[in-house]
Parts: sequence; C-alpha cells; structure tokens
Amino acid sequence: MRKINPHDFTVARRGTSREINRQIALNLIRAHQPISRADLARLMNVRRGVASLLVSELLSESLIFEGAVGESVGRGRRPTFLYIDSRQRCVVGVDIRASRTYILVTDLMGRQLGVVSSFQTNRNEDVLIQELARRIKQILGDYKEIGACEGIGVSVPGMVDPANGRVLHAPTLAWRDVNLRDPLAVALGIPVHIENSGKACALAQLWATRSDVIASGNSVFVSVSDGVGTGIVVNGEVLRGRHNTAGEFGHVPLSIDGPKCSCGATGCWEAYISNLATLSRYLGQDVSEPRPRDTETANFTVEDLIARARAGDAKALAAINSTARYLGLGLASIVNALDPARIFIGGEITTAWSLIEPIVRSALRERTLTEFGGTTEILVVPAEDHPRLRGAVALVAAPAFAAPMVA
Ligand SMILES: [Zn+2]
Repeated sequence: MRKINPHDFTVARRGTSREINRQIALNLIRAHQPISRADLARLMNVRRGVASLLVSELLSESLIFEGAVGESVGRGRRPTFLYIDSRQRCVVGVDIRASRTYILVTDLMGRQLGVVSSFQTNRNEDVLIQELARRIKQILGDYKEIGACEGIGVSVPGMVDPANGRVLHAPTLAWRDVNLRDPLAVALGIPVHIENSGKACALAQLWATRSDVIASGNSVFVSVSDGVGTGIVVNGEVLRGRHNTAGEFGHVPLSIDGPKCSCGATGCWEAYISNLATLSRYLGQDVSEPRPRDTETANFTVEDLIARARAGDAKALAAINSTARYLGLGLASIVNALDPARIFIGGEITTAWSLIEPIVRSALRERTLTEFGGTTEILVVPAEDHPRLRGAVALVAAPAFAAPMVA
C-alpha cells in the first residue's frame, strides 16, 4: 500500500517513475501556489525542461491551470504562475460517530463547500451504509456544477484495515470485522477510503502543513468525541503498527478500578474524557453503568455543557474541569511513551480551552518525568475546522498530492 509522506521529497531519486515526479510536482504546486515553472524546477531540483514537460502534462489533464503573470527577472519572458485546478472536482468527507454521522463536501484542496450536514447514527451497519449512500447522492446532486466526485473518505471511530476496507473493531458502535468500504462504494459507484479517526486527523494535520514549514519531530493527534481517537506521526508518517491498530491510547487505563469503557474494560482514558464521559459526570449518571450512549442525541451536548459552565453553572464547570485533569494525565502518558514534539487536540472540548488549559497543563506537568515533558507543545485544532471531517477528506485528497515513499 502506498505510504503517504507529503514532506519528504528526497526519496524520489533519479530513475523513479514519472508518476512519482508528477505527484511531487502537484504537491509542490499545492504548497507554494502561485508558483512559476522556474521555481518549481528549482524546488524539484530538476532542469527547467523536465519541469516544463511535467507542467504541460498536468495542464493537459486539467490538474493545474495557469494564472496571473508575474514579474520578470532581467530580460526574460514574464512567467505565468501555476495553480492546482481544484474547481472541477469535489471530495466527500464522512465522520461516523456513535451518536451522529457528519458529512462535508470540499474541493480537491480540502476547502469546505457548503455546510456540514449530520444525522443520527444507526448502529446497524447495513442500515447506516444505505442511509449514507442515499444522503451522499442527494448532497452530490446539489453540487452538480462542481463536477466529478473524486472519492469518499470515511473517518471511523475504531481500528481499521484500510487495505481491505474493514473495520476491525469499533467499540462505541459495537462493530467487529465490518466491511464498510465495499458496500458503500458499490452503492455510490465512487471509490471509498476508510481510516481510523485519530489516524485520519493526524494525516490531515500532516497534509495541511505547508511543505516549506516542515514540522520537525514527531507529533500526536488526540481527537475527543464520543470516544477518543489517537494518531501518531513518526518521521513524517502515520504510525500504523503491524495490524493497523497502533496508537490506541484511548484504551490505555488511567485506573484499572475506573469507570466501564465502551471496549468492555474498566478505567480506560476514554471512559474519563470522552464527550459521553463528561456528560455522564455532569448528569450524575454512574459512568460505570452501561454507557448512556444516547445522551448526546437527547439534545444535550458537550457544547451545551460548556455554555452552562461559561454561564456560571458550577456543576457544569466541575464536570469539565475533571475532564481537563484526566485529559492532562493521559497526555502525560503519551509524552512519557513517545516524547513527541507537539500534541494536537481536536474535539468539542477544545471550545472550553480557555477554561481548561491551566488544568490540562498542570496535570501534564504533574505526571511527566522531565521538565521538557511538562512543557510539550499542545496545539488546539478548533472545532469549527472539523478535524475529523478534514481527516476523512485527506484520505482522498492527500494521496493525489503526496509523494509516495519509494525507499
Ligand atoms: Zn476501553
């Protein structure tokens, strides 16, 4: 399977295929646009003629277009600038959660088109697949003028084998070995790519970073929703592990005597910090009882809880503060295990960041083993950026631009 590494262009050496050079060119144009042919050649470290040939090919396939004319240097012809042609293609991102499923349409660059729509998730996979297909067809009907849909990316709250399109285990949905990709692709007649939500978020973060600001060091993405997804980036690649299940920090116990988790064990990090755990804490429900999975669909969400906390509801604030402390303690485990350069956090809880940040950081400091660990950079990805949907979109859009590893 193709590995995605949008930053490391050095792996494509002399003699590597034309396809790889095309992808490198596309990614560089995406990251640096508007860009001239001369600058592209310089960045690719190839002769002008080689770059021009590639550019002609990409132009004839309408993958890029020529735009405004730039300043000429010396007496030469004034260069025209190259842009990715994202106008005639769209991508659909789907974020499946235990409570609701979200759909977003973007252009090929991952720019949002229209609004995010959502519906209640039916945990019967056959029913969900049919409903998804129906809704996606309907939405694409509204975007006819945009042109062809390149693909559907689906972010799944569970462990996924992207090669065969199967969900290995999604605890919050009680799914085991579910073929999600193929029936959806057949129903829509469009390619479908599925991935674990934490890994999808990590991939999108990697892709979003402009290649000229290469993020140094390793990073971790923590996505807090109905469950907790984690994606780990090591040396510019998402860490998969032998069976694609690496990085399940959500199911690392914070305390073995803790509340019952969706996976059946007790005391997992997820059982302390997921949106459902936070809501259960506020509502005074015993989180060790079978999970109140429908809490969020009962029209009371974590965002509502945060609004109450901001309005002075002490009980709401206490529930959120507890989540903040557990969040920081779990982050400390991640820092102790991986010592990443930075941790990204996504999810509705981040809308309370100004309230909870001091508590998160103090818990992180408390349980990290060195002073460096305690100061690990934490970057919040705003909820309005829809990181899980962006992650789903990146499954389709990023490979079109990424330079595959050929080492
Ligand atoms: Zn668990």
